[in-house]
Amino acid sequence: MVTLDQIVQFAKSTGFIFQGSELYGGLANTWDYGPLGSLLKKNIKDAWIKKFQRQTPYNVLIDSSILLNSEVWVASGHVGGFSDPLTECKSCNQRFRADKLIEDHDPTVSADGWSTDQMYQYLVDHEVTCPNCGKKEFLPIRAFNMMFQTHQGVVLEQANQIYLRPETAQGIFINFKNIQRTTRKKVPFGVCQVGKSFRNEITPGNFIFRTREFEQMEMEFFVKPGTEVEWFNYWKQFCMDWLVSLGLDQDNLQFDDHKPEALSHYSNATTDIRFRFPWGFDELWGIASRTNYDLKAHQIHSGENMTYLDPDTNERYLPYVVEPAVGVERLVLAFLANGLDEETLESGDTRQILHIHPALAPYKAAILPLIKKEHAEKSLEIYNELNQYFDVVYDETQNIGKRYRRQDAIGTYLCITIDHDTANDQAVTVRNRDTMAQVRIPIKDLRSYIEKETQF
Ligand code: ATP
Repeated sequence: MVTLDQIVQFAKSTGFIFQGSELYGGLANTWDYGPLGSLLKKNIKDAWIKKFQRQTPYNVLIDSSILLNSEVWVASGHVGGFSDPLTECKSCNQRFRADKLIEDHDPTVSADGWSTDQMYQYLVDHEVTCPNCGKKEFLPIRAFNMMFQTHQGVVLEQANQIYLRPETAQGIFINFKNIQRTTRKKVPFGVCQVGKSFRNEITPGNFIFRTREFEQMEMEFFVKPGTEVEWFNYWKQFCMDWLVSLGLDQDNLQFDDHKPEALSHYSNATTDIRFRFPWGFDELWGIASRTNYDLKAHQIHSGENMTYLDPDTNERYLPYVVEPAVGVERLVLAFLANGLDEETLESGDTRQILHIHPALAPYKAAILPLIKKEHAEKSLEIYNELNQYFDVVYDETQNIGKRYRRQDAIGTYLCITIDHDTANDQAVTVRNRDTMAQVRIPIKDLRSYIEKETQF
């Protein structure tokens, strides 16, 4: 597999991902998605919405605010408890997440669910070394709240203090009654949301793997208590199937079922789907059975009845919830790591290629006049027709071989060449990125051909 450095270089040189605020020396761990990266992100989100919401009869989509009433975060437990265990090296003053220090020291250990005292004792007993300076003494661990704070309005008063959301899920829970009432959905049903979240991570890094601003795709699936394990297993497999159907190699994926002692206090089952990133297997997607923790917390804190009345049985209950939550950027990194490749051709030449599912490819097709002077007009006509339906790109510079290579490298699935015969046969040559096979397709069939070849 490619190294992280190769991915960063590739992303920067092709226009997938640039360093954030580069012009002003950058802002640590922020990234801007360029012309190709923003299309890749859009396609990932579209593919998620398509399978998790549109084609799932149970589910609807919402788009809630990033800024919420602060009471939401008091109720959900984020104000009191959304923290990472922060420690500091006594010698070099570098700060670390204690749980990550422990897990890096011994990958067979999981510090999930440990108290800060337990973690500190482990650092001392096992003489864990500072990854920065190699010394073995750390300051006692304290809980560091990861929510970004800001103030709403012009007066910097405590009363105006609000938070940037650290997850999209709470926007769903607080709208549970609105959504259920207006859609008249019966349990089981799910609510999907895609949007930005913010966490003041202690140790961001590994390129776009862990950043302080990121995009999440979350679904809260409301079920009858007692059926949650069944639904948990259903969605766990659904998520895995979605990843594999989009081309991630099965060998690069694994489930990491959390042991009972490592579960959050509100969860009765949690699994992570882990992907083989360049530094090893790491969390891609968290899937948790969250019981009725969130709805109950909001019921208590707001005083509103959050229960659901089953119209068939007349039972009234607080639904349980299964939540698959994944980060768009982690998926971007996984698809790049999984797909970047260099092939040696029969001729002995090499070609860079991004093997990515055509539905995710930034461009479905490139429109290429064989000779600019002779074929540009017809090519532009075809380009203007196809760009009504697909993301396509027009390229007339350099020889055709170089243009093919350029498109292979950024994952463009089809290359459509307009040549000398086009005027006579009203057809074009279509080349496939992966097989390099070429077929002659009538211009009038291009739209349906691309649709068929790139569908998900
Ligand atoms: P981690 O243990 O890696 O900090 P988490 O278990 O806190 O992650 P969740 O709260 O379960 O993460 O978030 C769900 C998903 O959101 C994660 O699986 C990941 O894909 C994504 N995610 C979470 N934090 C970040 C981040 N700082 N940067 C990018 N993606 C993130």
